[in-house]
Amino acid sequence: MNLLSFRGGVHPPHYKEATERFKVEKAKEPDRVAIPLQQHIGAPCEPLVKVGDKVKIGQKIGEAKAFVSTPVHSSVSGEVKQIARMLTPTGEVECIVIEADGLNEVHESVKPKGDIENLSGKQILDIIKEAGIVGMGGATFPTHVKLSPPPEKKIDTIILNGAECEPYLTADHRLMLEDPESIVYGLRAMMKVVNVSKAYIGIEDNKPDAIESMKNASKGYKEIKVVGLKTKYPQGAEKQLIYACTKREVPSGGLPMDAGVIVNNVATASAVAKAIKTGMPLIERICTITGKGIKEPKNLLIKVGTYIKEIVEQCGGYNGNPGKIILGGPMMGLSQHTDEIPSTKGTSGILVFTPEEARLPEPKACIRCGKCVDICPAFLQPLYISAYSLRNMYETAEKYHALDCIECGSCSFICPSKRPLLQSIRVAKREIIAKKRKTK
Ligand code: SF4
Ligand code: SF4
Repeated sequence: MNLLSFRGGVHPPHYKEATERFKVEKAKEPDRVAIPLQQHIGAPCEPLVKVGDKVKIGQKIGEAKAFVSTPVHSSVSGEVKQIARMLTPTGEVECIVIEADGLNEVHESVKPKGDIENLSGKQILDIIKEAGIVGMGGATFPTHVKLSPPPEKKIDTIILNGAECEPYLTADHRLMLEDPESIVYGLRAMMKVVNVSKAYIGIEDNKPDAIESMKNASKGYKEIKVVGLKTKYPQGAEKQLIYACTKREVPSGGLPMDAGVIVNNVATASAVAKAIKTGMPLIERICTITGKGIKEPKNLLIKVGTYIKEIVEQCGGYNGNPGKIILGGPMMGLSQHTDEIPSTKGTSGILVFTPEEARLPEPKACIRCGKCVDICPAFLQPLYISAYSLRNMYETAEKYHALDCIECGSCSFICPSKRPLLQSIRVAKREIIAKKRKTK
């Protein structure tokens, strides 16, 4: 197979063997959930319910009041017990706590919405928006916004990201094996929304069974091409995926739409299919629970709002004391201080390291080996951006294009001196963006 790729990148060990062969199991129904009113990039939702209200599965409980926002829905039937700010994977957010009644009643609004052939692009877009669908690869950008580019941006291609290039994670892999038709259906729906006749599904070649499965499911749709990608991190990053599939480059500071492309995750496409076919909004997702710190690694279908602690308990609990809990993959995931937080639409993985694995090596002086420059997929010079950031020289860091960093962590991974490259570059980005906002 002719494998596609991009310049730079690294080859971290996959560690996927722990779960890649395990079918997705339905997680136990939670007794209570905490649904954050912000699980997406953009403005938080406003609650539509109050304490004491009875809610059903799929009922909208948070309304999006801004364009870059998305509604949230109840994942259980039961009673609203509390609406308060609480800790979530992305910090303190207002949450709606619901105690489940065990009846699993589905809300009346949840019913099939029709078929791609009979629905207009605008109707499909409205279904996606109302279903609260966001990028499920972890980015959580509202999908209806992605699918509404300004008229001057001419989109001719959609790419579905099935690379799952982060080590350990196998949720997308299992979805591609177990429900490939839903992915193709969702992709066709999104193609209708933006009126394009070309699409790629990019999958790394360490998942040959997924490539075959998606090829079989998309047979009969010649506008959809399943392509094998070289297994290399960060193959699933938008700019790298676009280059690998189309050889188009997204300009510095630009977005995929500047290259005529919209990128979505395979799980997002599947959620779109579900929202059209059954009317069920995004209230559950597949999550990989893995790492040496977990007794029985699994792929579980979890209800949004289920506490991380309860999900881990369903995987036999921790192997001793957890050293580090990461939501997402080890390269771009978010470290957490506690497991008393709810899962969200973006919880693609729960990775637990043992204390030994979690121990960070002491950083040493930069030896100017140039490895970080060689592998940076964004063509940056991480050593300089980092050095200027560490000296609080953010303007100089900006001149070295700090804002083009996609935060893939490849530089930190490759650095023989174990310099805190990604962390310091993130600080520089935050400071530069904050300054830009102030001067607006
Ligand atoms: S500088 Fe940014 S984009 Fe480049 S390797 Fe480091 S984290 Fe990735
Ligand atoms: S990889 Fe590390 S040691 Fe090598 S140049 Fe970059 S920062 Fe310096």
